[in-house]
Amino acid sequence: MNSLALARPAPIRVLADTLVSQIAAGEVVERPASVVKELVENALDAGARRIDVRLLGGGVRSIHVADDGRGIAREELSLALQRHATSKIASLEDLEQVATMGFRGEALAAIASVSRVAIVSRTAGDEHAWRIEASTGEILPSPGETGTRIEVEELFHATPARRKFLRTEATELGHCLATLERVAAAHPGVSFSLWHEGRRVLDAPAAAPAQRAFALLPEGFAAASRPVLADAGSIALEGWVGLPTAARARADAQYFYVNGRFVRDKLLSHALRAAYADVLHGGAQPCYCLFLRIDARAVDVNVHPAKAEVRFRDPQPVHRFVQHAVERALAPAATLPATAGEASSPARFAPASGMGPALQRGLGFGADDPAPMSSLFAGEPRTIPSEEDGAPPLGHALAQLAGIYILARNRHGLVIVDMHAAHERVLYERLKDSLGEVAPARQMLLVPLVLAIDPLEEATLAEHAPEIAALGLDAHLAGPGQLVLRAVPEMLSRGDVPALVRALLAELRDVGAGRALSERRNEILGTMACHGAVRANRILTLAEMDALLRQMEATERADQCNHGRPTWVQLTQADLDRLFLRGQ
Ligand code: ADP
Ligand code: MG
Repeated sequence: MNSLALARPAPIRVLADTLVSQIAAGEVVERPASVVKELVENALDAGARRIDVRLLGGGVRSIHVADDGRGIAREELSLALQRHATSKIASLEDLEQVATMGFRGEALAAIASVSRVAIVSRTAGDEHAWRIEASTGEILPSPGETGTRIEVEELFHATPARRKFLRTEATELGHCLATLERVAAAHPGVSFSLWHEGRRVLDAPAAAPAQRAFALLPEGFAAASRPVLADAGSIALEGWVGLPTAARARADAQYFYVNGRFVRDKLLSHALRAAYADVLHGGAQPCYCLFLRIDARAVDVNVHPAKAEVRFRDPQPVHRFVQHAVERALAPAATLPATAGEASSPARFAPASGMGPALQRGLGFGADDPAPMSSLFAGEPRTIPSEEDGAPPLGHALAQLAGIYILARNRHGLVIVDMHAAHERVLYERLKDSLGEVAPARQMLLVPLVLAIDPLEEATLAEHAPEIAALGLDAHLAGPGQLVLRAVPEMLSRGDVPALVRALLAELRDVGAGRALSERRNEILGTMACHGAVRANRILTLAEMDALLRQMEATERADQCNHGRPTWVQLTQADLDRLFLRGQ
């Protein structure tokens, strides 16, 4: 029998201050990235123009954040480390309209309770800096410029249970980088840099808002996005939303800020999903970077210890405003270039002059197919119909057009194939088949490819060596910051191999140590297929084009690329006749 159950109840005690801070740290300090967030926000609150973050061991061993802000006076150094001590609010009224990132006065105390902290700071009037060690409270003169450097060593050294929850170095570094990027996007006028083990991982000099946002968002976003600008006085939304073509498999490029604070908010995500509902299908995730400005009194930021969620006093109008602003920005009139249409647009192949619905319908499977275009592209996989006489359904290649399309002739008329999209689909299905127990056939590169990689990629390469080999890549670290690639899967060798390696490292980093690679297998294969497929402007011989057509015929779901766009269309003889008004 449990002796405790029989014992007298434990007396009620007031907890020691350190223990209270350690409990609070459980909410505020989850991992190195949370420390980076708190320290960088403090630097911004102090008016810093340049913020420098230096990490060792993914931030677990050491995090130093230096700023050129207004500093902390010597006599306030020990206060800064105390719980519930803040210079940012003094009353409930202040709290209701807080304009600073911080206000709870608990971050430094919480961090100091689970690591070793020192502050070096100098205000404009000081002749030198002062340094305080949190553990002893001792303050000594120290060299240093105006501003503050907070040094955090050995995170969770005293709380091994929490330390166990940390992932690998590369994963923690990845989180720190993502955190800093989020803050940086909202503060373009401030310079940010991140260093890991003495090497620079991020360099973001002060820039115009658009320039800063585009530098942090995925490559190509600038060209595949539309600006959002909606101002209703008490509420305004600004930023950029990605077109459906910029959509991604993962929700990793979604930035939403409320009054300068990065948030993940259910109401706002829902408004975004609703705005994209008509143009984005399936699991595709939109890219966006949006800044909502709203009267501070209309939003409560004090509902989450790390302030990652907010509560709107009046949610419905906010939802409507955001949804409509994004819908307007994405509206076809604003998004459709005169020629190439969007995947979801029924006018995909209509000439700019606006060919009639007859032509559009004819683009399907012959003039007698009554299905409207939208349903042909809708997502129900169709198989490529085989011909009774054994002639290849997709016919024989005639030419390559604009570096993008293959034109082929079959018995019905003209077949137009998007060569990259089609090849990507073929590769994806073949990768899924071939990457079973055995690694796929490898192609040795004639000249090994040397790639400069950053510390984050370097750490990922080291951690995931076996997985990378199993995927058919022979990639090794040749020296600091240098990856040497000697072989790639044969079927991917004609693609953009450097981009493939980088995308693969990024995918693997996100897998982390805890999650099995198998859970993410298809996403990873999709990434490989995308970069392994023939690029635009790659000149193919007729024989190569024919080979691709035959592979398409042999591949399941070959009529759609991995992003749900069609890979080929048929223009029948009847369609062509109509174009030339023959027989009318
Ligand atoms: P909060 O940010 O909620 O006020 P913190 O524990 O993060 O609480 O910081 C406590 C106080 O220490 C701040 O209110 C501020 O006065 C001071 N402080 C912290 N970091 C800096 C910094 N980098 N520069 C100037 N002052 C700072
Ligand atoms: Mg703070």
